[in-house]
Amino acid sequence: MNERDSERVAAWLTREGHVPSADESGADLIIINTCSIRKKAEDKVYSLVGRLEKEKQKRPRLILAVAGCVAEQEGENLLRRFPGLNLVFGTHQVGRVAGLVAKAQAGERISLVGPLPDADRLAGYLPFHRAPGVSTFVTIMEGCDNWCSYCVVPALRGRELCRPPEEISGEIRSLVEAGYREVTLIGQNVNSYRSGNGLSFPGLLKLAAGIPGVSRLRFATSHPKDLSPELIRAFAEIPNLARHIHLPAQSGSNRVLAAMNRRYTREDYLDKVERLRAACPDIAITTDMIIGFPGEDEPDFRQTMDLLEKARFDGSFSFVFSPRPGTRAADLPGPVENADGKRRLKIFQDRQDEITEEINRALVGRVHEVLIEGINPRPCAGKCASLSGRTSGNKIVHLPGSLDLIGKITPVRITEAAIHSLRGTIEDNLVSPEPGPKEAKC
Ligand code: SAH
Ligand code: SF4
Repeated sequence: MNERDSERVAAWLTREGHVPSADESGADLIIINTCSIRKKAEDKVYSLVGRLEKEKQKRPRLILAVAGCVAEQEGENLLRRFPGLNLVFGTHQVGRVAGLVAKAQAGERISLVGPLPDADRLAGYLPFHRAPGVSTFVTIMEGCDNWCSYCVVPALRGRELCRPPEEISGEIRSLVEAGYREVTLIGQNVNSYRSGNGLSFPGLLKLAAGIPGVSRLRFATSHPKDLSPELIRAFAEIPNLARHIHLPAQSGSNRVLAAMNRRYTREDYLDKVERLRAACPDIAITTDMIIGFPGEDEPDFRQTMDLLEKARFDGSFSFVFSPRPGTRAADLPGPVENADGKRRLKIFQDRQDEITEEINRALVGRVHEVLIEGINPRPCAGKCASLSGRTSGNKIVHLPGSLDLIGKITPVRITEAAIHSLRGTIEDNLVSPEPGPKEAKC
């Protein structure tokens, strides 16, 4: 979401004549787009602003700005804490960035945060501007109404607001014309999408998938409580919908899930996993997990480990609980000792790595459709071009091949598997009856 928001900021600024700088040292304006989801993300912002403030002593004309969730959370406090900071603007102010920067350049120190009327929030979406590539994001909704007890997002990104389907499909059409082949529809809880005229999220998926030129469609993130039978069917019915779902579980303990205000049980969650796999047997399922939530004891943690064994996630993002200002969970009794949280996290992550590796190894010898995204950032030593792409299940694959494959869906036989990526070779004979490992010679 933040990557996309940064592109939106860049779009508004380029429209007013600003030019992107190749690097930080040549810039007259530096905007730090921030995340406040965990304390560590927030702390990184403060150390970066501190470093840039020192830089500003050498370059007094440099304009420094902080945007995004930390800006929304702290507002004027940031101007007080960092005298070298010129501008603070919150999550709803993206569409106003050019005017704010002009004022900062004229010498004002400004902090602008807080909600906006719906029409103004939605107006912040145009025009668009993207990093070059094969895959891109399209925001379909803003904000979140779920109020999970640990999470700052509803307070900082506001209430849920859906973009109209015509605007979303118009944006996707222009992206396809510009050469993008894969679109990821993004929002905090995409499966609660409902347009003004009643189009549901599965309806929106069908609309987007049907746009000529969309080779592959993805979405993130889904809340398990809103995962409808219609959405599960979509995986079986929409051929270009990637066979991957990111479905954050957060915990395997019903007691902890209730304290988190997630509004589903472990049984509900596992039932949905089973239904997804029944509808689409090769679907990849990934998750988010919070370890050491207040009150989590060893039996609760064992339930989380048990959920991991039962769901066998392809991968997960897991973190120790971080108390966030203004959230209900920050004041809950029974904080888990940091050492216990870290120990449990390691147990969880080690087991997840083993499962990921087992799942990935089972792919060796099979042919997968890989959307080639670009040149492998860490190429192999040989003379051939080394490409990178992703399977429908969102696994990164490195393979030798020519540059004209970039942007194309290509059959690739997987030859090697590790935790974070696969290796493969292009399968020339599509109807090869006998899958068998081949060495990737490069
Ligand atoms: N809307 C998405 C998640 C957005 S935040 C969803 O509900 O799935 C991304 C992830 O950060 C969450 O899934 C959660 O696992 C993690 N997270 C959020 N708040 C956190 C906190 N206070 N401490 C630790 N992890 C947190
Ligand atoms: Fe945060 Fe929960 Fe909303 Fe996700 S669904 S953004 S975790 S409040």
